Amino acid sequence: GDAPKKSLWQRIKDVANADVGVILRGGVKDGSLEQLEEVLLASDFGVATTLKLVDQIGGYAQRGLIRTEPEFQDALRRLVEAELREGNSDPSLKLSASKPTVILVIGVNGAGKTTFIGKLAARLRKQGKTVLLGAGDTFRAGAIDQLRVWAERVGAEFVGAKAGADSAAVAFDTIDAGIARGVDVVIIDTAGRLHTSAGLMEELKKVARVIAKRIPDAPHETLLVLDGTIGQNAVVQARTFTEAVPVTGLVVTKIDGTAKGGIVVAVHEELDVPVKFLGTGEKAGDLHAFDPAQFAEELVE
Ligand code: GDP
Repeated sequence: GDAPKKSLWQRIKDVANADVGVILRGGVKDGSLEQLEEVLLASDFGVATTLKLVDQIGGYAQRGLIRTEPEFQDALRRLVEAELREGNSDPSLKLSASKPTVILVIGVNGAGKTTFIGKLAARLRKQGKTVLLGAGDTFRAGAIDQLRVWAERVGAEFVGAKAGADSAAVAFDTIDAGIARGVDVVIIDTAGRLHTSAGLMEELKKVARVIAKRIPDAPHETLLVLDGTIGQNAVVQARTFTEAVPVTGLVVTKIDGTAKGGIVVAVHEELDVPVKFLGTGEKAGDLHAFDPAQFAEELVE
């Protein structure tokens, strides 16, 4: 299924000596909350979120609100869900009232950007929308063809250029074509690596500027794609991108390849940007609109 390989709950139960009752009964007294802290850190929740959750659980235990395993499990599930709903957390994809909606997709090479664009295009096509893909990753050899194949597969239109072409020019041409052809949604791929990180950030700013020149309130969504298997590095990457361009949503990929779903909570908490999609594989159907309640339940099941 889509659930993390080993649930957080199972990991908590696996900790040395920590049948959950020990955490509960000893929790506030003998430091066994430290074991909970270790599990949460090992599950990629990050320091800030971990300390917050441990503190909340400790408080509940102290007040006698959790005395049994199911109560503990339920409290953890509710706290994770509350965390995911805090702040800027609307997971829905914003579509523009006037055509086309412009979605800019950013992220480092290998995060799963191109695959995500293909899957998102498939999803929008299923909803009856016309879609145009713009191959703005002119730096990575193969990215353009990979996107063209996705476009053919899902019945989307495609605008490409030769490798090495100017990425911002491709974005501009894609939007022009989108307007001319009256498509519903334009999705623009970007480079995930340049000679330097500063160079990449400058290019992304330029792409966003060029898009806004053509359609003033665009991009309507700037989605940052993060590899869910790289732990706290995803948080570090996300900070670099969010400092360069206004990111409106997060996509966490390769959730099928990790048992550490805590990263999804950590990136939301650290960046105050909503998680909008989860990637759970390489096929067109392996994309899930983010649902905080369902995610919390699967994580703590
Ligand atoms: P890009 O460089 O960011 O455009 O990354 P790609 O879309 O080319 O993806 C990099 C690799 O990760 C490819 O082998 C993809 O098939 C794979 N991939 C992408 N998304 C997922 C996912 O959700 N789950 C798994 N298991 N693999 C994925």
